[in-house]
Amino acid sequence: MLPEPAKRELIAILGDDGFKDDPQSLVTHSYDGTPMQQALPDAVVYPRGTAEVSAVMKTLYNHRIPVVSRGSGTNLCGGTVPVQGGVVMVMHRMNRIVGIDLENLAAVVQPGVNTKAFAAHVESLGLFYPPDPSSMAVSTIGGNIAENSGGLRGLKYGTTKDYVIGLEAVLANGDIIRTGGKLMKDVAGYDLTKLLVGSEGTLAIITEATLKLIPPPKAKKTMLAMYADLYDAARTVSKIIENRIIPATLEILDNPTIRVVDDFAKLGLPRDAEAMLLIEQDGEPETVERDIARIEAICRAERATEVSVAKSPEEALKLLTARRSAFTALARLRPTTILEDATVPRSKIADMVLAIGRIARKHNVSICTFGHAGDGNLHPTATTDARDHDEVVRVEEAFAEIFEAAIELGGTITGEHGVGVVKAPFLEWKVGAAGIGAMKAIKAAFDPYNLLNPGKMFAKETRKRVVLQRG
Ligand SMILES: Cc1cc2nc3c(=O)[nH]c(=O)nc-3n(C[C@H](O)[C@H](O)[C@H](O)COP(=O)(O)OP(=O)(O)OC[C@H]3O[C@@H](n4cnc5c(N)ncnc54)[C@H](O)[C@@H]3O)c2cc1C
Repeated sequence: MLPEPAKRELIAILGDDGFKDDPQSLVTHSYDGTPMQQALPDAVVYPRGTAEVSAVMKTLYNHRIPVVSRGSGTNLCGGTVPVQGGVVMVMHRMNRIVGIDLENLAAVVQPGVNTKAFAAHVESLGLFYPPDPSSMAVSTIGGNIAENSGGLRGLKYGTTKDYVIGLEAVLANGDIIRTGGKLMKDVAGYDLTKLLVGSEGTLAIITEATLKLIPPPKAKKTMLAMYADLYDAARTVSKIIENRIIPATLEILDNPTIRVVDDFAKLGLPRDAEAMLLIEQDGEPETVERDIARIEAICRAERATEVSVAKSPEEALKLLTARRSAFTALARLRPTTILEDATVPRSKIADMVLAIGRIARKHNVSICTFGHAGDGNLHPTATTDARDHDEVVRVEEAFAEIFEAAIELGGTITGEHGVGVVKAPFLEWKVGAAGIGAMKAIKAAFDPYNLLNPGKMFAKETRKRVVLQRG
């Protein structure tokens, strides 16, 4: 429960319809896309603009009440679970595309704008906003920025961070800052724009973003390569890159994922294939033709059993949409689906695939693998049952070993889903104790009372000891 004076102040700022603390609203905002993570907030608020966010933050700061900003709650790291109670701030009412600047190829948007709707709007104006997380039909631009989300086009076009050129944000004490702008160059002081991208709501509340747009590619081709061996498919990924071809999309799906995606999307995929690569190239028509022919030759040299090119843009779209449904489709297999996000250098993707298989067998758990292979970003996904305590413990141990393997291969514990609650115990493995110290100092400078999304990013205890014991 919020203290009565704080509640009164928040209602005065937001009106009755901008403040909720009925049990249904609290339960609705107690969880997100992350399995097995839940905690009730004390209230939910719905600001309509930057001035309201600022006024709300001043109240929360004065009363020392935690706040968790929330887009659509699709994150997979427990990022919007209010683990220390307080207020969940839902950004959905701040959902305006403020403007598209055709002279500067830039867009200004509020954080609650839906990613897919924004990308479609930009496309209708003959421009291109590449970041395309598989959740884009539901996610918000604010959530994408706070998680620095990637997507199917990350390999060639980069991730959200590469398109955020300016931000407006509200600090813990309610002050409003502006960073960057419609500028291609800006070295005035520390790069606060880049610092806030990926900060998971722990440093400031993003209230407006300036995004870079680019001209769209002129041509596009999509192809599938099927394999009898997952390792061959993974090796093909490294070979394509080694041959200095950077496809727009280079996704891998293992056999269980192919099957569930095919059940879901009815594509008629060969269900006995052990792996599939979904590859798209775009650009100038001649370059696309040349690259697709070279990629096909590489796939065949790496023992692809079948290679086919989509016959029409509709077929290509169907394939990409099916890939985006992989997580949802896998969720139909068992009651609980835990999707992870280990990332390795692209040359190590085949080693990582082997390690995941070995670790899953060792712990006797079912882990399917798909992901943005061209980025070295795999999504090993455990299909399990949260009610089976023993199995969940085995899944957790398996994932700890998977993160360890990723780091040993020069990789990281998360490539795009963020740290949140679930990866916090592993962060030190990646950044070291000194790295944690530097990050905590930044957090303290922005948020001295630890009110912005507390309990995220930094764990009370690292899982380091487990690794040392095992080693
Ligand atoms: C089916 C599925 C597929 C997915 N595919 C991908 C994928 O391909 N690539 C990928 O990177 N991720 C993917 N995700 C993860 C998730 O969709 C992304 O992290 C997404 O960016 C979250 O957006 P959201 O609007 O739902 O944010 P939320 O989940 O609501 O919030 C995410 C984080 O951002 C913070 N936040 C939200 N708004 C603000 C704000 N205005 N200011 C400050 N902080 C804020 C929150 O506090 C939280 O820490 C997927 C998830 C699902 C369920």
